[in-house]
Amino acid sequence: MVSSLMEAYGRKRSCIRELFEFGRTLDPDLVMDFSLGNPSVRPPQAVLDALSELGKKDVHGYTVAPGSMEVRKAVCRHLNSIGKAHYEPSGIIMTCGAAAALCICMKALAIDSSTQFLAQAPYFAEYECFARGCGARFAAAEADLESFQINFPALEALIGPSTQALVLNSPNNPSGAILSESTLRRLAQLLERRSAELGHRIYIISDEPYREIVYDGASMPHIADWYDSTIVCYSYSKSFSLPGDRIGYIAVSDSVDDKDSLMASLAGSARAMGYVCAPSLLQAMVARCADVKPDISSYRENRDLLLGSLEAMGYECVMPSGAFYLFIKSPYSSAKAFSDEAKKHGLLVVPSDDFGCKGFLRISYCVDRKVIERSLPVFEKLLKQD
Ligand code: PLP
Repeated sequence: MVSSLMEAYGRKRSCIRELFEFGRTLDPDLVMDFSLGNPSVRPPQAVLDALSELGKKDVHGYTVAPGSMEVRKAVCRHLNSIGKAHYEPSGIIMTCGAAAALCICMKALAIDSSTQFLAQAPYFAEYECFARGCGARFAAAEADLESFQINFPALEALIGPSTQALVLNSPNNPSGAILSESTLRRLAQLLERRSAELGHRIYIISDEPYREIVYDGASMPHIADWYDSTIVCYSYSKSFSLPGDRIGYIAVSDSVDDKDSLMASLAGSARAMGYVCAPSLLQAMVARCADVKPDISSYRENRDLLLGSLEAMGYECVMPSGAFYLFIKSPYSSAKAFSDEAKKHGLLVVPSDDFGCKGFLRISYCVDRKVIERSLPVFEKLLKQD
């Protein structure tokens, strides 16, 4: 016998993966694949140099479970230089990307089957699977379609005695929105008030793989600077264009007042799931490159071309301030119907249903510019076809 929940997750691939795999069967010169967030730019040269030099050295053994002291110090130095929250190496656990970091956090906070994790729609589609995989429940506040910030009445209505954490993602996949300082101030007040009323702390799990992918000098407030009980989940998948190499971390600042027991639970959760010792070579690279800044100019150019062209055609688009996704309103009554029609032309865009928000399409524009250029006549044709 097998777990029916796991079997169901194994059998039903995400809609994004399905589209991506379909794209693999088409002629690479003809397909216009905007399905997956697979960065199109090369990793920064300093990262490639570090990997090739360090790979020849003695860096292939196990490190201590949370990661070498050297890399945890480098991560703290970096975090302490970009925000107000203060980090020590004892608050860092290196992980296999953000997915492992999120699962470790949820498992550490999942007390029993009534535990509830919350998110704000639109959200990264895997959150539900991660929460339910830890034996917990998952619910999301309906999207605020005006601002793509937080829908406070909907969120407050969901918070109850079993709420352990709110998972947030800014800059957001799929909307590209950045949570503003005023949103975070209001959120901190809400969570502090509800934590006091419920008699237990509600954490924020801040999922930050797009932290550096921010356009036009937009301000990018750090959630941990606004709410003490924040657990940061970070990944180098997007900023360093290394999604296949699986490296990221969990960071808990000194302001989290149960830091000691939280860190022990996170270590226990990582251990129970077999997630100890993130890839050693990648840890050594991060120890050297933690401050390297990604070059996001080609993503910005792609965003401007796509946004300008689609708006000129008459598409309604959410203005992305960060990440590399464009969220557009479906011109057809069903986003799935638009995606299916687009697929017939080799244009792969993701309907938004799995992000907890119907009626939109996500276009992942971390692609070669030529793919965008080729896609524009198809977008135009699809609009006229409705
Ligand atoms: N969180 C968000 C919002 C993402 O977009 C992704 C990947 O696309 C992940 C987490 C998973 O990241 P990783 O590849 O580092 O596991």
